Amino acid sequence: MSIFQMTKTVLKSLFSRPATLMYPAKPAKITPITRGHVKIDPAKCIACRLCQRKCPTQAICVEPKEKSWQIDQMRCIVCSACVDACPTTCLTMETQHRPAMTARGGIEKYTVAGPKKKEPAAAPAGGAAPAKE
Ligand code: SF4
Ligand code: SF4
Repeated sequence: MSIFQMTKTVLKSLFSRPATLMYPAKPAKITPITRGHVKIDPAKCIACRLCQRKCPTQAICVEPKEKSWQIDQMRCIVCSACVDACPTTCLTMETQHRPAMTARGGIEKYTVAGPKKKEPAAAPAGGAAPAKE
């Protein structure tokens, strides 16, 4: 870099506004596609574990028998893979960022609806066929 270019860069930096945002002093810019945090509607979750399998950081843990769904916010990188994979659309990506955490924690646990019970097979019309001898 020549001395001329360096002087130009220094002068530009001296008299221009900082490129970084003053967050949290100034609120972050939020758009309709901002990825803030994952939210679940527990009533719609069938505990199929697809979100857990798709999560690249193992932030989600689903226990179908216990009907529990939990997320570790400290592990979540807000990639939205779980939201895209959920077959019941019970996961959504909220645009609001979570407040900063200063201690370990951030695990949110929910009791969900769980797997759907299978309906018993309907008896054939006219009753069951007699057994052959
Ligand atoms: S949140 Fe969606 S993908 Fe995850 S277990 Fe529940 S229904 Fe399945
Ligand atoms: S947004 Fe990405 S990292 Fe966060 S829980 Fe979903 S899949 Fe995992």
